Amino acid sequence: MTQKLYYEDLYRTEFDAAVLRHEEGKEGVRVILDRTLFYPGGGGQPCDKGTLGGRNVLDVFEEGEEIVHLLDGPITEGAVHGVIDWNRRFELMQQHLGQHLLAAVLFSRFELRTSRMRIEGDDVSMDFDNTPVDEETVRQAEEEANEAVWQNIPVEILYPDFEEVKLHARKLPPKTSEPIRIVKVGNIDYVPCCGLHVKNTGETGIIKVTATENHKGGTRVHLRCGRAAYRWLDVVCRGARKVQLELTCGPDGMFQRVLHLKEEIRELTSRNGELLDQAAASLAERLLRDAEPVGEFVLVPHILAGAGPDEVKRLFHALTQQRGAAALLAGADPQGISLIFGCHREDKAIDVRGAFHRALEISGARGGGSPCCTQGRGPLCETPEQTQARLQEAISAAAEVLRQSLS
Ligand SMILES: [Zn+2]
Repeated sequence: MTQKLYYEDLYRTEFDAAVLRHEEGKEGVRVILDRTLFYPGGGGQPCDKGTLGGRNVLDVFEEGEEIVHLLDGPITEGAVHGVIDWNRRFELMQQHLGQHLLAAVLFSRFELRTSRMRIEGDDVSMDFDNTPVDEETVRQAEEEANEAVWQNIPVEILYPDFEEVKLHARKLPPKTSEPIRIVKVGNIDYVPCCGLHVKNTGETGIIKVTATENHKGGTRVHLRCGRAAYRWLDVVCRGARKVQLELTCGPDGMFQRVLHLKEEIRELTSRNGELLDQAAASLAERLLRDAEPVGEFVLVPHILAGAGPDEVKRLFHALTQQRGAAALLAGADPQGISLIFGCHREDKAIDVRGAFHRALEISGARGGGSPCCTQGRGPLCETPEQTQARLQEAISAAAEVLRQSLS
């Protein structure tokens, strides 16, 4: 049975131990010690990392009564020196106690019981299965939990029996005859937990809820505490400051300004669409007037330099709104080339697919469609001049194919 030094002194960072066994495993070297400072993970808290005998500790976990350290290389027999990654451990203890405080307030003030919690990277999440928790409730609980942080209440670890735990705990562990490890914070919290926590609430620093989301008919609350909260707030504040400078407003005005901008974009996009349609209509009129007649139809090959698929499509619709024209259109914008060939859907005598395939061959584009409408996209050439020349070639060759099929 490995002696659990991490329960004896939460703030110790180095230790010496005797190597009881070590063996090569698939994932690394497995080492069993007589005692350890490495927390193996549990209660939603990940394991400690650090070094053991100069090797990196990749993972720590419990196997029966023993704690297994997984190392990235072999160590020598006998005595070994271990150093835990203190920054990681301290942050996990801050996050874990902060989570307890928020859970305690949500339970005592709002009767909301946490289904599970997990610390993953900088994010702590708490689930409330089948119980939706609204944002205002979370905000109030966050405020109260932070008050508990600033009161700097000592955190006690107790080992009462099950009957005693039943009387006070906000969460019951499975029934057992063993003493149960209880984490008690003044008269705010009394809960069974195997994890590690800072020894005063003040060391949690701050508890910040970062998001809430729907989860299993209830709510998942995301939070960060201590240094992880500081890192997050730093990123958020710096981002917000840049946005405020761009929008010339304070933090309170950001949201309204963004809504206003979105509305402005919507109006401008709609106006822009109308103008593009007008431009397409007048270009179509000119192209149809000058178009080459072939049999009972006219042929309209055209390249829109600098136009994306949206603009090419607008011209296509303007040209094929009425019967009588076969359009062979191409455009090129920085994303690539686009091709649209076709006619009014009632011009059954026209089938653009043969001409379209000829254009695909030459331009290297891909696509397909029906006899009255084919669309494709493809890559640009090295220079705009080469792209333009290749489109010219593709459209001329395609026009020739269509000309022959119609005459
Ligand atoms: Zn806990």
